[in-house]
Amino acid sequence: MPNMLVVGSVAYDSVDTPSGKNDNQLGGSATYFSVASGYLTDVAVVAVVGRDFDPDDRSMLSDRGIDTSGLVQVEGDTFRWSGSYREDLNSAVTLETQLNVFADFAPELGDAHKALPFLFLANIDPTLQASVLSQMTTRPKMVACDTMNLWIDIARPALVSLVEQVDILLINEAEAMQLTEADGVASAADRLLDMGLRAVVIKRGEYGAVVFHKEFTFAVPAYPLVSVVDPTGAGDSFAGGFLGYLSSVDDTGNDAIRRAAVVGSVMASFAVESYGLDRLKSLNATEIDARFDAFVELTRFHPLGGGQGLPVKSTFNS
Ligand code: AMP
Repeated sequence: MPNMLVVGSVAYDSVDTPSGKNDNQLGGSATYFSVASGYLTDVAVVAVVGRDFDPDDRSMLSDRGIDTSGLVQVEGDTFRWSGSYREDLNSAVTLETQLNVFADFAPELGDAHKALPFLFLANIDPTLQASVLSQMTTRPKMVACDTMNLWIDIARPALVSLVEQVDILLINEAEAMQLTEADGVASAADRLLDMGLRAVVIKRGEYGAVVFHKEFTFAVPAYPLVSVVDPTGAGDSFAGGFLGYLSSVDDTGNDAIRRAAVVGSVMASFAVESYGLDRLKSLNATEIDARFDAFVELTRFHPLGGGQGLPVKSTFNS
C-alpha cells in the first residue's frame, strides 16, 4: 500500500549538455520523483503516456515497487521536452515542449489513492495539480508542489491559487524570483511564505538549496561533484528525497524537514552524475548512506563551546 502520491509528467527528453547530447531519454518530473522517493517509501504515480511509451519503462518503475496503476496510456504521443544546459549547468533553456497526451489529460484518482497521507504535485500544468488535490477525500498530512517558468508565464492565476493551498513549495531560484517579482532569494521566500505556505524550498543548482520555513531557515549545499553530466531531474530527485524521507519516517516536524533537505541533496547529486535516470536508478543502500555521511561531514563544524563568543577585538564591545 503506497503512502505517497505524485502527479506530474512522464516524458521522453532530449538534452544537450557540456558532456554532449542525448535524445529520447526517459524523464519527466513524476518519473524522477518516484524513482528517488522509491528508495525510501512506497509511492504511487498519476500521469499519462502515449502509445509510443516503451513497456520496459513502465516495468522499470513497477519492478522498483512503484505503483503504476495511475499511469494511464492513451492514443497519441508521450510528453516530450528538449532542453539545453550549454550556457548554464544550473538552469535549463527549454528548446521545445510537446505536451502531447498531457494536453487533454484529466486525472482521475482511484479510491486507493484518494486518502494517501503525502502528496507531491510535481511540475505539470497547475490545473492538473489542483485537480488531483481536489480529489483527495482526506486532506494529506503534507502537500508539496513544484512548478516552472512555462506555467508562471502561461498559467499564473491557476498557479497562485494552487500555491495558496499547499504546505510546501519547491522552486528554482530564478522561478521564485519570476513568480514573486522579488530581486533576491530571501525576499522571494518572504513573499511566498506570505501566501500561506509552511515552507518554501529554493533550489539553487550547484549552490544547494535553502529551506525558508515559517519558524527557521536552513541551508544545505549541493554535493561538490567534479563532473556533472546531465542536470535534468535534479529538482525532482531533490523533491523525491525530501518527501520520500518525510513520508518514510512519518514526521513533518522541523528536525525532520532539515534532514529531509539533506536527503533531497543526496538524491539530486546522484541524478546529475549521468544522463537521465541511469545513475539514479542504479543505487544501493550503501551508496546512499555513504553520500548522506559525506553531507554530514561537508556541513559539520564545532560551535564555540561554553557560551564563548568569537574573538572579536575588545575595541568593538558595545
Ligand atoms: P528538473 O528536475 O527541474 O530538472 O525537471 C526536469 C524534468 O521536467 C524533465 O524530465 C522534463 O521532462 C520535465 N519537464 C520539462 N518541462 C515540463 C513541463 N512544462 N511540464 C512538466 N514537466 C516538464
